[in-house]
Amino acid sequence: MQKENIKNLSLKELQEIVSSWEEKLFHARQVFRWIYKKGIEDFALMSDLPPGLRKKLAERFIINSLQLSKAAQSSDGTEKFLFESSDHNFIEAVSIPAKGRVTGCISTQAGCKFGCAFCASGKLGFRRNLTTAEVLDEVLYLKNKSSVKKLTHIVFMGTGEPLDNYAEVLKAIRMINSPDGLNIGARRITISTAGLIPGMEKLSKEGLQIELSVSLHAADNKTRDLIMPINKIYPLDNLISACRAYFKKTNRQVTFEYILIKGLNSDLQSAQKLGRMLTGMDCKVNLIPANPITEQQVFPPESKDIALFKNALLKTGINVTLRKPRGKDIEAACGQLRLKYEKR
Ligand code: SAH
Repeated sequence: MQKENIKNLSLKELQEIVSSWEEKLFHARQVFRWIYKKGIEDFALMSDLPPGLRKKLAERFIINSLQLSKAAQSSDGTEKFLFESSDHNFIEAVSIPAKGRVTGCISTQAGCKFGCAFCASGKLGFRRNLTTAEVLDEVLYLKNKSSVKKLTHIVFMGTGEPLDNYAEVLKAIRMINSPDGLNIGARRITISTAGLIPGMEKLSKEGLQIELSVSLHAADNKTRDLIMPINKIYPLDNLISACRAYFKKTNRQVTFEYILIKGLNSDLQSAQKLGRMLTGMDCKVNLIPANPITEQQVFPPESKDIALFKNALLKTGINVTLRKPRGKDIEAACGQLRLKYEKR
């Protein structure tokens, strides 16, 4: 029998197993402390557990299922890790240090089925959903084994669509947030979605204070259809209504991501259209100059055009920020996570 990764279990689930073995319940909490607080990956090292329990745990579970296959560090401190799963899929995670914070960019699927034209992550197609344990493996690796050995924020902006792997990702988020787990505040955890409306509706009822980012990237259906195939299923008007409903339900501001792509969506008319579309909504727009994807003819506009777009949008009364790309020299910047290893 293949051993299960223990990180798939909630504390309650482990307590049930421990008590079915007629061991004391509090040992489950001790196991969690070793894994999530101390970063231990070997049951034999859990010195405050009875030796018999350590043995039973080791017979049934493993603690980490990802093998590091490559690491790269950018001159700006961004570090990218490529892992191989036990069934030989490649998974990427990125550590992004900035003033006073370290953000982990986490993948939720091996490959991606959404095929956005500007994004390199899904070019090799979809493999499978990651398990809760694998998502947590990524997070704990960044926390314990990156150069900075720290993690204050989590963004689900790596490969894959978090809301297309809803149950596993939500379980991982609860563990990241839990005082028994990584104890990272919900407001420091961001889900980014290409706009899966049913997932957004479900998320609004979870009672979690996490951040929601929606990848918009266009202000009309014609343009969005061209670059995001999912727009044909969940078109803009429905998506914007869903965002308004999300705010109404959660009272949490939605952030819209808008990649500025030269010659496509970065003219002044688009800025005005975007402003009109979001009128009256408590939201924020994060403008992202496109990281070049040469094969797709995706390039950022000139700096002056980026500034013009930003100002035009500000004039419509929208909150706007401009994202600074990180990790460009190691292809870890957004949309550039690619599974080079599979190209062999
Ligand atoms: N599937 C989810 C999560 C992936 S994160 C989603 O679509 O939101 C996707 C984000 O990566 C985009 O919103 C954008 O911020 C970034 N991204 C993808 N390709 C990019 C590119 N070529 N240049 C800059 N940012 C890019």
